[in-house]
Amino acid sequence: MTFDDEVDVAVIGGGACGLVAALRAARARDLVVAVYEKSVRDGCNTRFSSGSLAAGGTRHQRAAGVDDSPERHARDILAVSGDAASAPIVHALCRAAPRYVEWLADELGHPVELGRDMARSGQSVPRLHTDTGRAGGARLVRTLRDAVAAAPNIAFVDETPGAGLVAEDGRVTGVEVLENGVRRRVHARAVVLAADGFAANAAMMAEHCPDARGAFYGGVSTSTGDAIGWGLGLGAAVRNMGAFLGHGMVVPGHGTRLNPVLPFLGALLVGTDGRRFADEKAQGYSKLGRLIAARPGGRAVLIWDERMHEIAMHSELMRESAAAGAFSRHDTLADLAASLGLPPDALAGTLGGFRAVSTEDDPRGVDHGPLRFPLYAGRVTHGVLTTQGGLLVDETGRVLHRDGGTIGGLYAGGGSACGISGPSTEGYMSGNGLLAALGFGWIIGDRLAATLGPPPT
Ligand SMILES: Cc1cc2nc3c(=O)[nH]c(=O)nc-3n(C[C@H](O)[C@H](O)[C@H](O)COP(=O)(O)OP(=O)(O)OC[C@H]3O[C@@H](n4cnc5c(N)ncnc54)[C@H](O)[C@@H]3O)c2cc1C
Repeated sequence: MTFDDEVDVAVIGGGACGLVAALRAARARDLVVAVYEKSVRDGCNTRFSSGSLAAGGTRHQRAAGVDDSPERHARDILAVSGDAASAPIVHALCRAAPRYVEWLADELGHPVELGRDMARSGQSVPRLHTDTGRAGGARLVRTLRDAVAAAPNIAFVDETPGAGLVAEDGRVTGVEVLENGVRRRVHARAVVLAADGFAANAAMMAEHCPDARGAFYGGVSTSTGDAIGWGLGLGAAVRNMGAFLGHGMVVPGHGTRLNPVLPFLGALLVGTDGRRFADEKAQGYSKLGRLIAARPGGRAVLIWDERMHEIAMHSELMRESAAAGAFSRHDTLADLAASLGLPPDALAGTLGGFRAVSTEDDPRGVDHGPLRFPLYAGRVTHGVLTTQGGLLVDETGRVLHRDGGTIGGLYAGGGSACGISGPSTEGYMSGNGLLAALGFGWIIGDRLAATLGPPPT
């Protein structure tokens, strides 16, 4: 077999998983690491995410008096997903999470803060970490790319998609990439698949995630399932292929999202008939997407008050929604009903009987009374952000063969791997996506530095 190039570690995909894997592997200074990226211009999901990092047991939580641990984090994830078989992976990722959150803050200078105002379904304590300016995933990607640019032994090769794996005797020995459309073969001692999932691949979505039909797609065009397809071609096992990160607070016609903290602050969700159809706080935004999908026209309306609004506006996605004109402010019920096309009598009845309970202001869930005008309101629909299933890996990120054992030289993480959200859209807990991306990047990169790098002297 002849090759055009040679590296120690070839990473396919330059989102959170690929960048963290490269940075951690490259700590072994003798290793040559290359990240092949399909297109920075078209983007990665990490860039468009809220950049919320779930981690249990960080110094940021300790400073805020929050008692948490990787074990508690793992328990919460497993309770929501119900996927006991994923426990070894979940525990490994949760152990990595506080370490990479502190690494981002202390070594890469990322402005990390604990989002105390970011309550999410299933999280027993405040656990989402974000950047101080709440700029979200764009800020996270900038931090990681700056660190990659400063690493002397990492090449970030943009506009050069991976096109396949090279295998000899069942072991992966390299990758094929397209450089200006020309196929080149790169020899690598290890290949890391970090190309995310398949939510932008209509055929794969129809086959594996039929529940997502008709949903707004809020992810990037690059998530076409390439890596999962190559793995399958080599006999890899896959798992949780029907799982996806859905969203119930996508604004129709705009594609932005309302802040998922709103239901937890006491916002009211009504159908187009002006009546409630779900307990707003009883599920995460992924499962909420499924409930809204079942409503007439797949539409609902979220209504919140001034106090909730002030808190919710601390997020980039809410600021984007405001800029897009995705919600409106109303001083009277008549104005609210007319503007949103809701039957005024039914809406009056619903508002009269609704009590906003704020977990933000009162963790004991004390009744805060009815919603008071002025009120804000926005139409919401269901969306798909990313898929959550993929190549079956062990807790060190090694890809497993469907006949048992591992496929030598091959690792996968983030959206290319099997995920930790169970088999459907209902098992997703906020933060799971970036946890599987940064967590596997961390675990795989550290393993490669330890196993391929020079022995310690
Ligand atoms: C709108 C939105 C909001 C979200 N908010 C959150 C959140 O707040 N918290 C959370 O935990 N999760 C969130 N998620 C999910 C999270 O963003 C993803 O799970 C995570 O970013 C996946 O990381 P990744 O590194 O696997 O993939 P990505 O970040 O998508 O990176 C994959 C990269 O691979 C590249 N690629 C694809 N195919 C190839 C190929 N053949 N060759 C080379 N490169 C290739 C792509 O161009 C891309 O750059 C959100 C997702 C979306 C869409």
